[in-house]
Amino acid sequence: MPELPEVETIAAGLEPLIKGRCICDIYLMHPPVVRGNDLEFQRRLLGCAVHRVRRRAKLLFIDLDGPLHLVFHLKMTGKVWVPESGVQPGRHTHLILDLGREVYVFFDDQRKFGYVSALTAQELESWEFYTGLGPEPMLISAQEFADIFQVRKARIKSLLLDQKVIAGIGNIYADEALYMSGIHPCSRASDLPRDQLLHLHSSLQKVLQEAIGAGGSSFRDYRNALGVTGLFQEYFKVYGKKGSPCPGCATSLQATKVAGRSSCFCPRCQPDG
Ligand SMILES: [Zn+2]
Repeated sequence: MPELPEVETIAAGLEPLIKGRCICDIYLMHPPVVRGNDLEFQRRLLGCAVHRVRRRAKLLFIDLDGPLHLVFHLKMTGKVWVPESGVQPGRHTHLILDLGREVYVFFDDQRKFGYVSALTAQELESWEFYTGLGPEPMLISAQEFADIFQVRKARIKSLLLDQKVIAGIGNIYADEALYMSGIHPCSRASDLPRDQLLHLHSSLQKVLQEAIGAGGSSFRDYRNALGVTGLFQEYFKVYGKKGSPCPGCATSLQATKVAGRSSCFCPRCQPDG
């Protein structure tokens, strides 16, 4: 699933390609990708100009004049991209926004778990999923971060994945940040010393920043706004590397399940509390 760095990369790449352009036509090949009434969706969007493209948590926002928010959740395999001129939609292209002069935005999704909504500002503010999102890990201070986690008894890995606790983090960056901080994924957050929580905050920011710098990590169908893959998967230290030697101490990396997700860690560098 595209996480914070991937969606951030898509938003940053998309904005210069589509900002200021008007949606002059809409092709909806697979109406179930639209949350809500698909005819109303099309009626709302037609003629709107793109004001800004941004990210919140793992959501991709195309803010339109109106104001109207076109919100994509990419889920497992969703892609929002601007194909080169002449590229034809594929069988997984579910929605096309025609922005005129042969500029199109394609929404592709092989697994079809992703969705898109066109929401007014008021509708956005009454969308429970959106209003319930936790703070952004790149914006929250170290002290605020530690305050949130030190009162939680749940396992640290499941808290990192909980979008209501902190937004935008998935399995990849949770595993990498826990490794960098020397924290076992099954540790209870409230059992961790405060300086370790502060360290986790800086590790998270570092790994997310590095991943954004590398254009995200390429898994499954992730592509940036131009359909190009990211490179951060080359820099994974533990994620998906069960059985490989730890880059720090050469101990064989292990995997365990936390919150139903596989978690890779080094049993020596990340001792169990
Ligand atoms: Zn190690």
